[in-house]
Amino acid sequence: MGKAILLKTDEEVELLRQSSLLVGKTLAEVAKRVQPGVTTLELDEVAETFIRDNGAVPGFKDLYGFPNTLCMSVNQQVVHGIPGDKPLENGDIVSVDCGVLMNEFYGDSAYTFMVGEVDEAVKKLLKVTQECLQKGIDAAVAGNRIGDIGYAVQQHAEANGYGVVRELVGHGLGRSLHEGPEVPNYGRRGRGAKLKEGMVLAIEPMINLGIKAVRQDKDGWTIVTADGAPSAHFEHDVAIRKGKADVLSTFEYIEAVLNEKE
Ligand code: MG
Ligand code: MG
Repeated sequence: MGKAILLKTDEEVELLRQSSLLVGKTLAEVAKRVQPGVTTLELDEVAETFIRDNGAVPGFKDLYGFPNTLCMSVNQQVVHGIPGDKPLENGDIVSVDCGVLMNEFYGDSAYTFMVGEVDEAVKKLLKVTQECLQKGIDAAVAGNRIGDIGYAVQQHAEANGYGVVRELVGHGLGRSLHEGPEVPNYGRRGRGAKLKEGMVLAIEPMINLGIKAVRQDKDGWTIVTADGAPSAHFEHDVAIRKGKADVLSTFEYIEAVLNEKE
């Protein structure tokens, strides 16, 4: 049986927004420091300090036994990568997934960054994956179903020749990091749970440049692509409303940093 789907009051949605916005600000602190030579562990420490300085606690640390604040997944790593001592290199991409817990509610958002100069084909993967996220959000309105979100994501990814990861999915968000319903990045229109006002969902396409298959690394955490091709991951938290989802997280702070760096 799946986890319970818990509808949120307007007050709870505002608390979720505060947590989600703090994640966006934390990712912007990471964005300032993403460059060749920096280690993912250094970035992890920046994030943890920033979150604690803002009166929250890291949402992932010690949850299910995860050792760090950020999931940092480089190149062929899809998600759940553990920060470490290996410096990022020119041409890498790194998915940074961050969660915080503040006022009893989680925020959960992810962005895939380019390190230095990245291949055109990989740049396009990042652009299309972000578009997939937007198309998923556009489908996330009251009266639609979970399958409409997955369909929108899958359609756009596969139209570009990419593989859509099946084994990992988005999720409901609230006082727990992972609530119901599951939000797959593939699906059929009109199928699955009906979307209702007050649902809060984390929508998070994981899109592979190559085939869709993934496997778990021997560290017991990191998910990698089966063919070794790069993978991208973007995630937003949204509250379901009539007509248009209310996006609670933001990439605005990240984009301001990236525009400054250019
Ligand atoms: Mg996440
Ligand atoms: Mg998530």
